[in-house]
Amino acid sequence: MRRTRDAPPRRGRPPGLPACVCHARQKADLFQANGFNALLSDSIALDRSIPDLRYPECRSQLHYRRLPTAALVIPFHEEHLSTLLRTAVSCRARAPPQLLTEIILVDDASQKPALGGPLEAALAKHFPQSGFARVLRAPKREGLIRARMRGIAAVTADVVIVMDSHCECGVNWLPPLLHPIAEDYRTVVCPFIDVIDQETFEIRSQDTGARGSWSWNSFHYKRLPLLSESLRHRAEPFASPVMAGGLFAMTRRWFNELGGYDSGLDIWGGEQYELSFKIWQCGGRMLDAPCSRVAHIYRNFMPYKNPSNLGDFITRNFKRVAEVWMDEYKEQLYSTNNEEQYRLVDAGDLTKQRAIRERLKCHNFEWYMKNVAFDQPKFYPYRKPAKSLTGFLKAESANR
Ligand code: UDP
Ligand code: MN
Repeated sequence: MRRTRDAPPRRGRPPGLPACVCHARQKADLFQANGFNALLSDSIALDRSIPDLRYPECRSQLHYRRLPTAALVIPFHEEHLSTLLRTAVSCRARAPPQLLTEIILVDDASQKPALGGPLEAALAKHFPQSGFARVLRAPKREGLIRARMRGIAAVTADVVIVMDSHCECGVNWLPPLLHPIAEDYRTVVCPFIDVIDQETFEIRSQDTGARGSWSWNSFHYKRLPLLSESLRHRAEPFASPVMAGGLFAMTRRWFNELGGYDSGLDIWGGEQYELSFKIWQCGGRMLDAPCSRVAHIYRNFMPYKNPSNLGDFITRNFKRVAEVWMDEYKEQLYSTNNEEQYRLVDAGDLTKQRAIRERLKCHNFEWYMKNVAFDQPKFYPYRKPAKSLTGFLKAESANR
């Protein structure tokens, strides 16, 4: 099918196409394999026109003439080819060319044939400029945390923009992310995340934004309401305690000073807390920029398989984060969730992570709760933990 920019769904609206019986089976199979309507994705132009969901005042927002350069890092595991390509093509199309200088895709050991030769061919076609878009291939499955680190290590631009592999960038999405970073290299900025409907591919906003947070009983990502200041100046960036995870802009320098992610985190989960806590506790800050909009396909199930030899990696990831950054508050997490499982899981070696906290003289978690996530207890209550000393007990040998 010929795909024009105005092919359905026009301007990101639902297509309203009659159900195609002939494709029903193919559609169902592709939905199962991807967690979204991948068949429909194939009939939508990679550079389709989309609605401008920004607040009107964003159109007159001014940015510095000189901004740092940025690289897009997109890890993927068994992503559908057209959604992956649309991520790269739309982000490039709506960014000032002098600012977005490279796109690095990291293949986390995908098996789909389309992600081999056909992906390389499509990239060569859409990004003919030599070296602009590259694919790095992980020899074995690493998980999204180490896949991102692999991509970030290859970046040459000043700023790294991490992105999921099924996104679409909105109008002028890049400068609002770079502007606060130009003022301070330890500021990390997240875009507003809009929704690409998993069935119709319609693009719509979630709401008017929120600050990131978590629940104590499941450690799931949750949201805190905006503060009155942001309600008055809704286009202005505002501080957020926790990032959603998949989308953020950060200088390479600050990422590296923080030691990157904890490379002991496997596959998926917990990394947004790890990075958020250490950004704040170690002297940086994190903002959400309402004028930068990136749409993401949220799905109802994880379509890919995870390695069976890793055990309960999500609880292990959570425990690693809690043990290093959350001090006595970790007990809050352990005692309200699946306590037995938390006690059972071995978090592994945390020496390197603790050394980073020590070296950078990072604030403790109490400071973070008081200064950054100050209204968290109002929305996600907990019992104030008893102060405790942390350290190691070592048995002395008797005949020394
Ligand atoms: N991903 C990866 N390796 C994995 C799992 C996920 O590279 O083992 C990629 C995935 O393709 C996507 C990103 O990491 O680009 C986030 O994963 P996903 O979209 O499944 O997470 P969600 O958005 O549901 O949190
Ligand atoms: Mn995703």
